[in-house]
Amino acid sequence: MRDIKKLLAFVLCVVFVLLSLCSCKAEKSASDEMFALDTIITFKIYDSDKDKAENTISLLKDTITRLESSLSATKKGSDVYNINHSSGEKVYVSEATATLIKTACEISESCGGAFDISVYPLVKLWGFDKKEYKVPTQSEISDVLADVNFRNITIEDNSVTVKKGMSIDLGAIAKGYISNCVYDVMKSEKIERGIVNLGGMVVTYNSDESQSDWEIGVEYPDTGELFGKLSGKYTFTVTSGAYQRYFEENGVRYHHIIDPKTGSPAQSDISSVTVLGDDGTYCDALSTALFVMGVEDSLKYLKTHSDESGNMHSFIILNSNKDKLYISSDLADGEFTLYDDFEDEISVSVIDTMFV
Ligand code: AMP
Ligand code: MG
Repeated sequence: MRDIKKLLAFVLCVVFVLLSLCSCKAEKSASDEMFALDTIITFKIYDSDKDKAENTISLLKDTITRLESSLSATKKGSDVYNINHSSGEKVYVSEATATLIKTACEISESCGGAFDISVYPLVKLWGFDKKEYKVPTQSEISDVLADVNFRNITIEDNSVTVKKGMSIDLGAIAKGYISNCVYDVMKSEKIERGIVNLGGMVVTYNSDESQSDWEIGVEYPDTGELFGKLSGKYTFTVTSGAYQRYFEENGVRYHHIIDPKTGSPAQSDISSVTVLGDDGTYCDALSTALFVMGVEDSLKYLKTHSDESGNMHSFIILNSNKDKLYISSDLADGEFTLYDDFEDEISVSVIDTMFV
Protein backbone atom coordinates (compact mmCIF):
# COMPACT_ATOMS: atom_id res chain seq x y z
CA MET A 1 0.00 0.00 0.00
CA ARG A 2 2.81 2.38 0.94
CA ASP A 3 4.49 1.65 -2.40
CA ILE A 4 1.27 2.43 -4.23
CA LYS A 5 1.02 5.73 -2.35
CA LYS A 6 4.60 6.61 -3.25
CA LEU A 7 3.91 5.77 -6.86
CA LEU A 8 0.77 7.90 -6.83
CA ALA A 9 2.63 10.84 -5.33
CA PHE A 10 5.13 10.48 -8.14
CA VAL A 11 2.67 10.16 -10.98
CA LEU A 12 0.68 13.13 -9.71
CA CYS A 13 3.57 15.41 -10.65
CA VAL A 14 2.37 15.48 -14.22
CA VAL A 15 3.78 18.65 -15.57
CA PHE A 16 7.41 18.89 -14.67
CA VAL A 17 9.37 22.06 -14.47
CA LEU A 18 12.43 21.41 -16.55
CA LEU A 19 14.55 24.48 -16.42
CA SER A 20 13.61 27.39 -14.32
CA LEU A 21 15.62 30.42 -15.28
CA CYS A 22 18.04 31.03 -18.07
CA SER A 23 18.76 34.69 -17.71
CA CYS A 24 17.49 36.31 -14.57
CA LYS A 25 18.48 39.50 -12.80
CA ALA A 26 17.92 37.75 -9.48
CA GLU A 27 21.01 36.08 -8.11
CA LYS A 28 19.60 34.61 -4.97
CA SER A 29 16.61 32.35 -4.69
CA ALA A 30 14.74 30.12 -2.31
CA SER A 31 13.18 26.74 -2.98
CA ASP A 32 11.15 24.36 -0.87
CA GLU A 33 8.37 21.77 -1.04
CA MET A 34 5.38 20.65 0.97
CA PHE A 35 2.83 17.86 0.87
CA ALA A 36 -0.67 19.27 0.48
CA LEU A 37 -3.70 18.85 -1.82
CA ASP A 38 -2.75 15.18 -1.96
CA THR A 39 0.42 15.89 -3.87
CA ILE A 40 3.94 17.28 -3.53
CA ILE A 41 4.02 21.02 -4.13
CA THR A 42 7.35 22.61 -5.09
CA PHE A 43 8.27 26.28 -4.82
CA LYS A 44 11.09 28.21 -6.51
CA ILE A 45 11.27 31.92 -5.85
CA TYR A 46 13.85 34.24 -7.40
CA ASP A 47 14.68 37.59 -5.90
CA SER A 48 17.88 39.41 -5.11
CA ASP A 49 16.58 39.66 -1.51
CA LYS A 50 16.89 36.08 -0.22
CA ASP A 51 14.88 36.82 2.94
CA LYS A 52 12.01 38.11 0.85
CA ALA A 53 12.15 34.98 -1.30
CA GLU A 54 12.05 32.74 1.80
CA ASN A 55 9.29 34.77 3.39
CA THR A 56 7.22 34.48 0.20
CA ILE A 57 7.49 30.69 0.36
CA SER A 58 6.20 30.74 3.98
CA LEU A 59 3.29 32.92 2.92
CA LEU A 60 2.54 30.60 0.00
CA LYS A 61 2.57 27.55 2.28
CA ASP A 62 0.22 29.27 4.75
CA THR A 63 -2.11 30.30 1.94
CA ILE A 64 -2.29 26.76 0.54
CA THR A 65 -2.86 25.23 3.98
CA ARG A 66 -5.62 27.74 4.81
CA LEU A 67 -7.43 27.26 1.50
CA GLU A 68 -7.12 23.49 1.64
CA SER A 69 -8.75 23.48 5.04
CA SER A 70 -11.84 25.24 3.72
CA LEU A 71 -12.08 23.44 0.35
CA SER A 72 -11.23 19.85 1.28
CA ALA A 73 -14.09 17.36 1.25
CA THR A 74 -12.45 15.25 3.95
CA LYS A 75 -11.23 17.82 6.51
CA LYS A 76 -13.80 18.02 9.28
CA GLY A 77 -15.31 21.49 9.61
CA SER A 78 -14.27 22.69 6.13
CA ASP A 79 -16.90 24.52 4.06
CA VAL A 80 -17.17 21.53 1.74
CA TYR A 81 -17.35 19.04 4.63
CA ASN A 82 -20.16 21.10 6.18
CA ILE A 83 -22.09 21.15 2.89
CA ASN A 84 -21.67 17.39 2.58
CA HIS A 85 -23.04 16.86 6.08
CA SER A 86 -25.92 19.33 5.83
CA SER A 87 -28.76 16.83 5.10
CA GLY A 88 -30.26 19.25 2.62
CA GLU A 89 -30.07 22.30 4.91
CA LYS A 90 -28.61 25.65 3.86
CA VAL A 91 -24.93 26.08 4.85
CA TYR A 92 -23.15 29.43 5.17
CA VAL A 93 -19.66 29.36 3.67
CA SER A 94 -16.93 31.90 2.89
CA GLU A 95 -17.50 34.20 -0.04
CA ALA A 96 -14.60 32.52 -1.87
CA THR A 97 -16.14 29.05 -1.47
CA ALA A 98 -19.56 30.25 -2.63
CA THR A 99 -18.04 31.95 -5.67
CA LEU A 100 -15.98 28.88 -6.54
CA ILE A 101 -19.01 26.57 -6.34
CA LYS A 102 -21.00 29.01 -8.47
CA THR A 103 -18.21 29.06 -11.07
CA ALA A 104 -18.09 25.24 -11.02
CA CYS A 105 -21.83 25.08 -11.72
CA GLU A 106 -21.55 27.60 -14.57
CA ILE A 107 -18.79 25.54 -16.15
CA SER A 108 -20.93 22.39 -15.74
CA GLU A 109 -23.78 24.14 -17.54
CA SER A 110 -21.50 25.29 -20.36
CA CYS A 111 -20.14 21.79 -21.04
CA GLY A 112 -23.41 19.90 -20.75
CA GLY A 113 -22.59 18.33 -17.38
CA ALA A 114 -19.28 16.62 -18.31
CA PHE A 115 -17.86 18.53 -15.35
CA ASP A 116 -19.91 18.09 -12.20
CA ILE A 117 -18.70 18.62 -8.64
CA SER A 118 -21.60 16.51 -7.36
CA VAL A 119 -19.79 13.34 -8.58
CA TYR A 120 -18.39 12.94 -5.06
CA PRO A 121 -20.66 9.98 -4.12
CA LEU A 122 -19.27 8.20 -7.20
CA VAL A 123 -15.68 9.14 -6.34
CA LYS A 124 -16.32 7.49 -2.95
CA LEU A 125 -18.10 4.49 -4.44
CA TRP A 126 -15.04 3.71 -6.57
CA GLY A 127 -12.81 4.27 -3.53
CA PHE A 128 -10.85 7.22 -4.93
CA ASP A 129 -11.42 9.33 -1.80
CA LYS A 130 -9.52 6.97 0.54
CA LYS A 131 -7.49 5.10 -2.08
CA GLU A 132 -9.40 1.95 -1.09
CA TYR A 133 -10.36 1.05 -4.61
CA LYS A 134 -13.17 -1.28 -5.71
CA VAL A 135 -15.26 -1.88 -8.81
CA PRO A 136 -18.91 -1.31 -7.84
CA THR A 137 -21.84 -3.22 -9.33
CA GLN A 138 -24.05 -1.55 -11.94
CA SER A 139 -26.90 -1.37 -9.46
CA GLU A 140 -24.69 0.36 -6.87
CA ILE A 141 -23.64 2.86 -9.56
CA SER A 142 -27.27 3.48 -10.61
CA ASP A 143 -28.33 4.09 -7.00
CA VAL A 144 -25.56 6.64 -6.44
CA LEU A 145 -26.03 8.31 -9.85
CA ALA A 146 -29.49 9.41 -8.75
CA ASP A 147 -27.81 11.91 -6.40
CA VAL A 148 -25.49 13.38 -9.02
CA ASN A 149 -26.75 16.58 -10.61
CA PHE A 150 -25.11 19.99 -10.29
CA ARG A 151 -28.50 21.61 -10.99
CA ASN A 152 -29.56 20.57 -7.48
CA ILE A 153 -26.94 22.87 -5.95
CA THR A 154 -28.32 26.27 -4.94
CA ILE A 155 -26.06 29.20 -4.17
CA GLU A 156 -27.53 32.33 -2.60
CA ASP A 157 -25.09 35.01 -1.49
CA ASN A 158 -22.73 33.10 0.79
CA SER A 159 -24.93 30.09 1.36
CA VAL A 160 -24.97 26.75 -0.42
CA THR A 161 -27.79 24.20 -0.33
CA VAL A 162 -27.51 20.75 -1.85
CA LYS A 163 -30.35 18.27 -2.12
CA LYS A 164 -30.41 15.69 0.66
CA GLY A 165 -28.15 12.76 -0.26
CA MET A 166 -25.90 14.85 -2.48
CA SER A 167 -22.28 15.70 -1.76
CA ILE A 168 -19.65 17.69 -3.62
CA ASP A 169 -15.93 17.43 -4.35
CA LEU A 170 -13.89 20.38 -5.59
CA GLY A 171 -10.93 18.14 -6.51
CA ALA A 172 -11.12 19.10 -10.18
CA ILE A 173 -11.22 22.86 -9.64
CA ALA A 174 -9.86 23.78 -6.17
CA LYS A 175 -6.24 23.44 -7.21
CA GLY A 176 -6.93 25.96 -9.96
CA TYR A 177 -8.50 28.43 -7.56
CA ILE A 178 -5.64 27.95 -5.09
CA SER A 179 -3.20 28.55 -7.96
CA ASN A 180 -4.82 31.93 -8.61
CA CYS A 181 -4.20 32.78 -4.95
CA VAL A 182 -0.60 31.53 -5.23
CA TYR A 183 -0.08 33.89 -8.15
CA ASP A 184 -1.63 36.78 -6.19
CA VAL A 185 0.76 36.20 -3.27
CA MET A 186 3.82 36.18 -5.57
CA LYS A 187 2.58 39.41 -7.15
CA SER A 188 1.75 41.21 -3.90
CA GLU A 189 5.12 40.23 -2.39
CA LYS A 190 6.77 41.87 -5.42
CA ILE A 191 9.27 39.07 -5.95
CA GLU A 192 11.17 39.10 -9.22
CA ARG A 193 10.10 35.70 -10.49
CA GLY A 194 8.63 32.49 -9.19
CA ILE A 195 7.34 29.08 -10.20
CA VAL A 196 5.11 26.79 -8.16
CA ASN A 197 4.24 23.25 -9.23
CA LEU A 198 1.13 21.95 -7.51
CA GLY A 199 1.36 18.48 -9.09
CA GLY A 200 -0.26 18.71 -12.50
CA MET A 201 -0.72 22.48 -12.20
CA VAL A 202 2.17 24.89 -12.76
CA VAL A 203 1.96 28.59 -11.87
CA THR A 204 4.59 31.00 -13.18
CA TYR A 205 5.08 34.62 -12.19
CA ASN A 206 7.29 37.26 -13.79
CA SER A 207 7.43 40.80 -12.38
CA ASP A 208 8.65 41.96 -15.77
CA GLU A 209 6.28 40.73 -18.43
CA SER A 210 9.00 40.66 -21.09
CA GLN A 211 10.68 37.80 -19.18
CA SER A 212 9.59 34.47 -20.62
CA ASP A 213 12.35 31.97 -20.16
CA TRP A 214 10.49 29.33 -18.18
CA GLU A 215 10.39 25.89 -19.64
CA ILE A 216 7.61 23.48 -18.70
CA GLY A 217 7.79 19.88 -19.80
CA VAL A 218 4.65 17.94 -20.72
CA GLU A 219 4.57 14.29 -19.71
CA TYR A 220 3.92 11.39 -22.05
CA PRO A 221 1.28 9.28 -20.28
CA ASP A 222 2.41 6.09 -18.55
CA THR A 223 6.11 6.19 -19.35
CA GLY A 224 6.96 9.35 -17.44
CA GLU A 225 8.96 10.69 -20.40
CA LEU A 226 8.47 14.26 -21.54
CA PHE A 227 7.19 14.54 -25.11
CA GLY A 228 7.45 18.29 -25.45
CA LYS A 229 7.99 21.57 -23.71
CA LEU A 230 6.16 24.83 -23.28
CA SER A 231 7.91 28.14 -23.04
CA GLY A 232 5.80 29.42 -20.16
CA LYS A 233 3.95 32.26 -21.88
CA TYR A 234 0.86 31.53 -19.82
CA THR A 235 0.53 31.87 -16.07
CA PHE A 236 -1.29 28.57 -15.53
CA THR A 237 -0.61 25.18 -17.14
CA VAL A 238 -2.67 22.22 -15.97
CA THR A 239 -2.97 18.63 -17.16
CA SER A 240 -5.69 16.02 -16.61
CA GLY A 241 -5.17 12.42 -17.60
CA ALA A 242 -6.26 8.87 -17.04
CA TYR A 243 -2.71 7.91 -16.03
CA GLN A 244 -2.54 10.29 -13.07
CA ARG A 245 -4.51 8.20 -10.59
CA TYR A 246 -5.90 4.76 -11.23
CA PHE A 247 -6.13 1.18 -10.08
CA GLU A 248 -6.25 -2.05 -12.03
CA GLU A 249 -8.46 -5.06 -11.52
CA ASN A 250 -8.51 -8.15 -13.74
CA GLY A 251 -6.31 -6.36 -16.24
CA VAL A 252 -8.69 -3.39 -16.58
CA ARG A 253 -7.61 0.12 -15.63
CA TYR A 254 -10.05 2.29 -13.70
CA HIS A 255 -9.04 5.93 -13.46
CA HIS A 256 -10.22 8.83 -11.31
CA ILE A 257 -12.10 11.04 -13.79
CA ILE A 258 -15.74 10.04 -13.68
CA ASP A 259 -18.27 10.52 -16.46
CA PRO A 260 -21.28 11.97 -14.60
CA LYS A 261 -23.59 10.41 -17.20
CA THR A 262 -22.47 6.81 -16.68
CA GLY A 263 -21.12 6.93 -13.13
CA SER A 264 -17.93 5.14 -14.23
CA PRO A 265 -14.43 6.31 -15.21
CA ALA A 266 -14.85 8.27 -18.46
CA GLN A 267 -14.27 6.11 -21.54
CA SER A 268 -12.38 8.93 -23.15
CA ASP A 269 -10.40 8.86 -26.38
CA ILE A 270 -8.05 11.37 -24.74
CA SER A 271 -5.03 10.22 -22.76
CA SER A 272 -4.02 13.65 -21.52
CA VAL A 273 -5.25 17.18 -21.90
CA THR A 274 -3.31 20.30 -20.94
CA VAL A 275 -5.04 23.67 -20.70
CA LEU A 276 -3.12 26.94 -20.46
CA GLY A 277 -4.37 30.38 -19.59
CA ASP A 278 -4.50 33.29 -17.22
CA ASP A 279 -7.17 32.01 -14.83
CA GLY A 280 -6.22 28.86 -12.94
CA THR A 281 -9.79 28.06 -11.88
CA TYR A 282 -11.06 27.85 -15.44
CA CYS A 283 -7.99 26.02 -16.72
CA ASP A 284 -8.32 23.35 -14.02
CA ALA A 285 -12.06 22.79 -14.46
CA LEU A 286 -11.73 22.78 -18.21
CA SER A 287 -8.94 20.21 -18.33
CA THR A 288 -11.16 17.78 -16.42
CA ALA A 289 -14.25 18.63 -18.51
CA LEU A 290 -12.43 18.19 -21.83
CA PHE A 291 -11.08 14.83 -20.72
CA VAL A 292 -14.64 13.61 -20.09
CA MET A 293 -15.91 15.08 -23.38
CA GLY A 294 -13.35 13.31 -25.56
CA VAL A 295 -11.57 14.67 -28.64
CA GLU A 296 -14.51 15.47 -30.93
CA ASP A 297 -16.74 17.19 -28.39
CA SER A 298 -13.75 18.99 -26.85
CA LEU A 299 -12.81 20.51 -30.19
CA LYS A 300 -16.44 21.53 -30.77
CA TYR A 301 -16.53 23.09 -27.31
CA LEU A 302 -13.24 24.93 -27.79
CA LYS A 303 -14.44 26.37 -31.11
CA THR A 304 -17.61 27.76 -29.56
CA HIS A 305 -16.54 28.86 -26.08
CA SER A 306 -14.02 31.58 -25.37
CA ASP A 307 -12.26 31.92 -22.04
CA GLU A 308 -13.48 34.31 -19.35
CA SER A 309 -11.65 37.23 -21.03
CA GLY A 310 -13.10 36.51 -24.45
CA ASN A 311 -9.94 34.85 -25.81
CA MET A 312 -9.61 31.35 -27.18
CA HIS A 313 -8.49 28.66 -24.77
CA SER A 314 -5.00 27.27 -25.27
CA PHE A 315 -4.74 23.51 -25.18
CA ILE A 316 -2.75 20.39 -25.96
CA ILE A 317 -4.79 17.21 -26.34
CA LEU A 318 -3.13 13.81 -26.80
CA ASN A 319 -5.42 11.05 -28.04
CA SER A 320 -5.72 7.69 -26.30
CA ASN A 321 -3.48 5.96 -28.87
CA LYS A 322 -0.87 8.56 -27.98
CA ASP A 323 -0.11 9.16 -31.65
CA LYS A 324 -2.14 12.29 -32.41
CA LEU A 325 -1.75 15.66 -30.78
CA TYR A 326 -4.18 18.55 -31.17
CA ILE A 327 -2.77 21.94 -30.22
CA SER A 328 -4.37 25.37 -30.32
CA SER A 329 -2.89 27.58 -33.02
CA ASP A 330 -1.48 30.10 -30.52
CA LEU A 331 0.89 27.40 -29.24
CA ALA A 332 2.11 26.40 -32.69
CA ASP A 333 4.39 29.36 -33.17
CA GLY A 334 7.22 28.33 -30.86
CA GLU A 335 5.31 28.23 -27.57
CA PHE A 336 5.09 24.43 -27.72
CA THR A 337 7.92 22.25 -29.04
CA LEU A 338 7.51 18.53 -29.70
CA TYR A 339 10.75 16.75 -28.85
CA ASP A 340 12.63 15.13 -31.75
CA ASP A 341 12.28 11.66 -30.21
CA PHE A 342 8.51 11.89 -30.60
CA GLU A 343 8.32 13.40 -34.06
CA ASP A 344 7.86 10.01 -35.77
CA GLU A 345 5.49 8.78 -33.09
CA ILE A 346 3.06 11.70 -32.74
CA SER A 347 1.39 13.64 -35.55
CA VAL A 348 0.38 17.18 -34.70
CA SER A 349 -2.83 18.93 -35.81
CA VAL A 350 -2.96 22.66 -35.25
CA ILE A 351 -6.49 23.75 -34.38
CA ASP A 352 -7.54 27.24 -35.26
CA THR A 353 -10.28 27.90 -32.75
CA MET A 354 -12.45 30.36 -34.61
CA PHE A 355 -15.45 31.16 -32.47
CA VAL A 356 -18.74 30.42 -34.15
P1 AMP B 1 -8.41 16.72 -12.25
O1 AMP B 1 -7.21 15.99 -11.76
O2 AMP B 1 -8.34 18.22 -12.09
O3 AMP B 1 -8.83 16.34 -13.63
O4 AMP B 1 -9.62 16.33 -11.27
C1 AMP B 1 -9.97 15.00 -11.01
C2 AMP B 1 -10.63 14.91 -9.68
O5 AMP B 1 -11.88 15.61 -9.69
C3 AMP B 1 -10.97 13.48 -9.29
O6 AMP B 1 -9.97 12.91 -8.50
C4 AMP B 1 -12.29 13.64 -8.54
O7 AMP B 1 -12.04 13.99 -7.20
C5 AMP B 1 -12.95 14.81 -9.21
N1 AMP B 1 -13.76 14.44 -10.39
C6 AMP B 1 -13.79 13.26 -11.06
N2 AMP B 1 -14.59 13.31 -12.13
C7 AMP B 1 -15.11 14.57 -12.16
C8 AMP B 1 -16.02 15.25 -13.02
N3 AMP B 1 -16.56 14.66 -14.10
N4 AMP B 1 -16.34 16.54 -12.73
C9 AMP B 1 -15.80 17.16 -11.64
N5 AMP B 1 -14.95 16.57 -10.79
C10 AMP B 1 -14.58 15.30 -11.05
MG1 MG C 1 -9.18 19.80 -13.14
